[in-house]
Amino acid sequence: MRALGPCLSGFLALANLGRAGGEPSQAPAPDPEIARIVSDISAERIQRSVYVLASFKTRHTLSDPLPSGDGIGGALTWVRAEFGRASAESGGRLRVDLDTFEQPASPPRIPQPLSISNVVATLPGTGAEASGRTLVISGHYDSRATNPLDSTGAAPGADDDASGVAAVLELARVMSHYKFSANLVFLAVAGEEQALNGSTHWARQARARGVDIEAMLDNDIIGSSRSESGHVDRGTVRLFAEGVRPVPNPSDEQIALLKAGGENDTPPRELARAVREIAAAYVPSLKVRVIYRADRYLRGGDHLPFLEEGYPAVRFTEPAEDFRRQHQDLREEKGVVYGDTPDHVDFAYVADVARVNGAALAVLARAPAPPRGVQVEAARLENDTTLRWNPSPEPDLGGYRIVWRETTSPFWEHALDVAPGVTRTTVEGVSKDNVVFGVEAFDTAGHASPAVFPSARRTL
Ligand SMILES: [Zn+2]
Repeated sequence: MRALGPCLSGFLALANLGRAGGEPSQAPAPDPEIARIVSDISAERIQRSVYVLASFKTRHTLSDPLPSGDGIGGALTWVRAEFGRASAESGGRLRVDLDTFEQPASPPRIPQPLSISNVVATLPGTGAEASGRTLVISGHYDSRATNPLDSTGAAPGADDDASGVAAVLELARVMSHYKFSANLVFLAVAGEEQALNGSTHWARQARARGVDIEAMLDNDIIGSSRSESGHVDRGTVRLFAEGVRPVPNPSDEQIALLKAGGENDTPPRELARAVREIAAAYVPSLKVRVIYRADRYLRGGDHLPFLEEGYPAVRFTEPAEDFRRQHQDLREEKGVVYGDTPDHVDFAYVADVARVNGAALAVLARAPAPPRGVQVEAARLENDTTLRWNPSPEPDLGGYRIVWRETTSPFWEHALDVAPGVTRTTVEGVSKDNVVFGVEAFDTAGHASPAVFPSARRTL
């Protein structure tokens, strides 16, 4: 944990001074409602969801579409009904929609045009200033066997990715009883195993409609604490966070970020840092291992289309995968059992991963939006650092937090709070040449946004 500087709001508001601070002080008291969300998450309900999803013979995207069948149509019907039940239990606050679209043929994985459905459960935000702000959590309900086109062979997909869908369902059940400033979208997508079809469609639609997605948390393969070698680690979850997008024609913004040494401070990485800190506060038994990479080698997930659309998106995955359990026909070969069956899922572990997701969503959806217009003044040579930003519109704004760290450090090391009326401050004795700065916004209860890396302001 970083050392939080003392809250010097009044003093700073008057004097507009910074401090080369970092003295340890009280972190904000945990939000008791968020602590309750964390404790309400049930490993037993998650277990039931995983077993039900794995009971369909296959959830392959090209499998039986009939609602009464034992293919993807049956699974879709069940997932939708579960969200519907959560909605009913929360007095109808959760809005459940089907996002159905025609996927054109795209051989080899989609040999003919196909109807694909995502289930979208939305908990509308209650903040007057926050109507467009949206946070998304996702898992994929489709599955596959060894052959990616095998739409009839058994593919229970318990870990990949009934575990993620079960976590999303459980969070919808629990969180729909609480209020958040920003909208929460609980998403169960299909087509992941074919070509990320469901998430691609939804992310593109969101961009086209101008949805302001501040965070997307993909949960894919979060079911097992046991690695292929048999090592058990119940205390770690990996969180993959991309740096600068590798694109042929980088934007001026991306080039400026790289010139400023900000390659580790893309929005997905600031999001990952925030999630890690929130997890440490609310779910100390599970360490978030942030990995500076979009995804594992040879693999991809539903966060990628969101990154493609310019949204901050990250991926949770168990600490070490057992590849005998993924994308495998159910069989035994030379004494080795293959297949993604529920008996290999650690439901207490999945519940802890869900708790980290729930705490992160809750804090970020109650926090103000990340501040906009964050700049570091770079118009003259000096050893102090002056930052400025646009005022945040939230009525419950508690202030802004200046954070910084060594350029070689992965996580924030120092913090200094300033009052809500301040939009420019100088941190004396800490040079922007030597450290990385960020600015967060927090509310009166202490919920803080992810940090924003400042762009360089060349004029006074
Ligand atoms: Zn998957």
